[in-house]
Amino acid sequence: LISRQNCRIKAQSSNGTAGDGFVLEDVPHLTDFLPGLLSYPNPLQNSKAYSIVRQTFVTPEDAVAENIVVQKDSPRGVHFRRAGPREKVYFKSEEVRACIVTCGGLCPGINTVIRELVYGLNYMYGVDDILGIEGGYRGFYSKNTVSLTPKLVNDIHKRGGTFLQTSRGGHDTNKIVDNIEDRGINQVYIIGGDGTQKGADLIFKEVEKRGLQVAVAGIPKTIDNDIAVIDKSFGFDTAVEEAQRAINAAHVEVESVENGVGIVKLMGRYSGFIAMYATLASRDVDCCLIPESPFYFEGRGGLFEFVEERLKENGHIVIVLAEGAGQDYLARELHPIDEKDASGNRLLLDVGLWLSQKIKDHFTNVRKMAINMKYIDPTYMIRAIPSNAADNVYCTLLAQSAVHGAMAGYTGFTVGPVNSSHAYIPIARVTETQNTVKLTDRMWARLLESTNQPSFLNSNEVIPEKADQETMEVVNDLRITSI
Ligand code: ATP
Ligand code: MG
Repeated sequence: LISRQNCRIKAQSSNGTAGDGFVLEDVPHLTDFLPGLLSYPNPLQNSKAYSIVRQTFVTPEDAVAENIVVQKDSPRGVHFRRAGPREKVYFKSEEVRACIVTCGGLCPGINTVIRELVYGLNYMYGVDDILGIEGGYRGFYSKNTVSLTPKLVNDIHKRGGTFLQTSRGGHDTNKIVDNIEDRGINQVYIIGGDGTQKGADLIFKEVEKRGLQVAVAGIPKTIDNDIAVIDKSFGFDTAVEEAQRAINAAHVEVESVENGVGIVKLMGRYSGFIAMYATLASRDVDCCLIPESPFYFEGRGGLFEFVEERLKENGHIVIVLAEGAGQDYLARELHPIDEKDASGNRLLLDVGLWLSQKIKDHFTNVRKMAINMKYIDPTYMIRAIPSNAADNVYCTLLAQSAVHGAMAGYTGFTVGPVNSSHAYIPIARVTETQNTVKLTDRMWARLLESTNQPSFLNSNEVIPEKADQETMEVVNDLRITSI
């Protein structure tokens, strides 16, 4: 019925008919390359709460739909395997040797995921051999491991950062898999962003090539919420909440002076989700600038005109901008920097400082108006805090889903909520594209309505060669129809 290859499969649904457009994008299973593997009853069957737990077992037929808003008679579309405990597992608890590694930048909630992986493995499945790999990918081959017990990690969710430390660069697939083999590790839990998940996919492929009984599970981490397919990433809620404090501070500052201009720079290299949600949550923000929506300064509908209007109306203005906004402008006006970090990510120029200076110069030199500029960059303060209540619950679900998946023999998967139900998603599927704010989505329209800022869509100053195709389609459409 459902072949378990990491590819798109047209399948017959449990109660649907063949050919109704149901597609399962499945994740690999250890039995795909180790056909003789034995299965065992899930140890959850020994749980004191078994009468309840048994009802939570996920059947092989359960799938999660990628799109839930569909038209009548349209194909049922892409589905992913539902996450959760299975009746049968492919590891004996006493033979499991798991490891956990964290890579990339900090994000609230990493420690909660580590804690819940340890608790999930230990309390649900009786696994007590869990290794922490310290310092990111390179820790596999350059550092000693730490033995993780529930007692050791009991309190770590109350702290920010990562208990296991992190790093950029240093991914050497062969050395990492050699080390996995040497240490007898058979479950690998990898917490990290897009780069980390690409690395996890390479590790999975090498493990498969060598025919090792090792389950590789990725847990997506990105404060920017830019991971494709999943509803949202952990730490995002916390980041939006903490950003309110910076916006409040900027608002208090600019309200207390004459012609106050407050600029708050938030995270978001390629996607403006944090800036967009922080703006919608705050109501003190007059203008939100994100990488997906190119803006311009001069003339009608430009930023200078809008700032002047708000200063005249209210005596102050608060602008929130994502770190990736306006990068094309900066590259044109300043010397573009061609530097990369250890993982190969391009370093961005500081758009916050640049924008502050640009507005200051315009009002001082051109408009001959005195303004009071207040620039706040809370990035490191936001990244460093522990996760809030909602993210703690979410991190727990992610960790438990990852443990259920690995124990059930799935591998090469990333876990995450798709339309609110947790699913196992092929790793390559979440790394091939990035999630960005769609200017055609209702959320961006809601933001424009809430701030009443210009849409910046009616000028030739928009930099067409850099704006994405969809943005330009909107630009062109709106030029013609003019909303
Ligand atoms: P974030 O961007 O949210 O900070 P990230 O996981 O994208 O998280 P990176 O520093 O880009 O952070 O990558 C983390 C780790 O993944 C690094 O050790 C890096 O070497 C490795 N990595 C990044 N890209 C790849 C890739 N294409 N293939 C293999 N490994 C990669
Ligand atoms: Mg990244």
